[in-house]
Amino acid sequence: MNAPLLHTPPPPTGYDVDRVREDFPILRTRVHGHPLVYLDNAATTQKPQSVIDALVRYYTEENANVHRGVYQLSALATERYEEAREAVRAYLHAQTPNEIVFLRGATEAINLVANSFGKAFVRAGDEIVLTEIEHHSNIVPWQMLCARTGARLRIIPVDEAGEIDLKQAAEMIGPKTRMVAFSHVSNALGTILPVAELTSLAHAQGAAVLIDGAQAASHLAVDVRRLACDFYVCSGHKMYGPTGIGVLYAREQWLEDLPPWQGGGDMIETVHFDKTTYASAPAKFEAGTPNIAGACGLTAALRYLQTLGLSRIAHHEHDLLEYATARMHELKGVRIIGQSTRKAAVLSFVVEGVHPHDVGTLLDQDGIAVRAGHHCAMPTIEHFQVPATVRASFGLYNTREEVNRFIEALARVREMFLT
Ligand code: PMP
Repeated sequence: MNAPLLHTPPPPTGYDVDRVREDFPILRTRVHGHPLVYLDNAATTQKPQSVIDALVRYYTEENANVHRGVYQLSALATERYEEAREAVRAYLHAQTPNEIVFLRGATEAINLVANSFGKAFVRAGDEIVLTEIEHHSNIVPWQMLCARTGARLRIIPVDEAGEIDLKQAAEMIGPKTRMVAFSHVSNALGTILPVAELTSLAHAQGAAVLIDGAQAASHLAVDVRRLACDFYVCSGHKMYGPTGIGVLYAREQWLEDLPPWQGGGDMIETVHFDKTTYASAPAKFEAGTPNIAGACGLTAALRYLQTLGLSRIAHHEHDLLEYATARMHELKGVRIIGQSTRKAAVLSFVVEGVHPHDVGTLLDQDGIAVRAGHHCAMPTIEHFQVPATVRASFGLYNTREEVNRFIEALARVREMFLT
């Protein structure tokens, strides 16, 4: 194999990826006799020991229901749960922990906004603006809202590189726009969207902005106040934390103004058959027993990320992305889908003459885990007129050696179908 073309400087000094890998027990797994190369981080990330320990500790020593108990264990569980809220506040640089709502994930957070914001502020004839490269989670809830209200969707297109057409965005976002909702980073292409430009276009028209940060929050430092967004959502399991816990950040005023979404325990102040009054935010949006263990695990995950440092993680992953991109250019018949100049951690591609699912299955035989399909972003895939893509997505524990194994295995797949 030829020496790879290197477009980037060597990995950042002080980032000891071998040491980092030791924190992730699952990386010792073998798959079909090969060491696991996990390149499906956009779907979910693996968990460091500290997150696993936090879950075990919670159930071993701290388990009780929150907010209601007068006894010590319940007070402790409540403290842990609210500690997690503060950890998320600090991580996203929100103003106050009251701006942080815990939900099941990014999907549920978007559904909450589409329902509550939709009920309060969206009427027939209004417009919701999305981009062409959204995850289904940031399409379907808005579609459902439009079906309920008679509002309509407008879609900002992308070009062949997978970049947003800002000229069209400026034409589409107008006085009828109530909400502009877009991803921070596209899960199918890796495009980093022009968040500041879209946000100011929306705000200039008095529209609200929701940023889907599911693919961004563990790769880029996020500061919701600098982003100036109204809503920001993310999922714990994509941030090296547990499944079943996600976050809605909303500017405090929104949480006061929006009606509750689900009803039940914990979200009320008083309940009588003739009248119920609601708790103030964020409790107003957290009906029922929350995922307390998940919140403890999320705190550990955020501490882990902060200890490594988001800028060092971003640098490491960018190095991997550039290295893998350069190595992929060595392979004939492999086309990268999505070549935005600003990209994060995702490499989507097709191999000429081989169905993406076959590529994925064959790579698995070599212990390499990638995803093949539409990545819950069918409109994105349709734009590029391919049936599906293979997606390798990098995380903070991946290495250049793993990229080499991946590229070499891909070269073998390609040869197999050439002969
Ligand atoms: N948005 C984007 C951009 C995503 O990549 C994902 C997960 N693939 C989601 C939303 C939904 O996240 P979750 O399934 O954790 O709710």
